[in-house]
Amino acid sequence: MKIIPTGRYCLKSWHKYLLLSFLAIALCFILETLQLTPVTALEEELATNWQKASFPVENFQGYTSGFGYRISPSTGQREYHNGLDIAAPLGSNVRSWWGGQVVSLSDHTNCGTQITIQSGEWQHTYCHLDGYVKSTPQGRYLIDPQLGAIVAEGQYVSTGAIIGRVGLTGRTTGPHLHWGLKYGQQDVDPGVIIRAMYRSS
Ligand SMILES: [Zn+2]
Repeated sequence: MKIIPTGRYCLKSWHKYLLLSFLAIALCFILETLQLTPVTALEEELATNWQKASFPVENFQGYTSGFGYRISPSTGQREYHNGLDIAAPLGSNVRSWWGGQVVSLSDHTNCGTQITIQSGEWQHTYCHLDGYVKSTPQGRYLIDPQLGAIVAEGQYVSTGAIIGRVGLTGRTTGPHLHWGLKYGQQDVDPGVIIRAMYRSS
């Protein structure tokens, strides 16, 4: 007759469960560290500072293209869309989402006439603006055909300041603001931010 060592068997089984629990906790920790921390930090920031944030464009008509992979409206190819497209009539005021420094002005890419603003860890980009960039010995400026020189590279702008108007520059199929966001080096879906803004308002 064979005697089964019940006590030892139970101990081994208990060890297995303990090991699995540790692995699950470690996996959660790694995922949190790698991916979720920036968005969580942003949502915490927005939850406490909602009154400071500004919607980036006036005369909102709708969201025409979201963040992430999509079929390009102009080429028909699958592409990565690093921002959110917000439709608004031509000439609508574009406003700085957050106060910060104008770190880049450009007018020769698919993004068209473009402003990028740095606010701490956050970088926000506005594309397809009306006008062009002019380089002078004093610096570089965004020239709007109606408003004149409205933004200089390197200057600080306050939250909600008018930084341009919706145009048709760059690769675009209709008047809209392409709004891009980065936290550190990582692209962030602006839709997540807009939802967080409305939740905390
Ligand atoms: Zn876009």
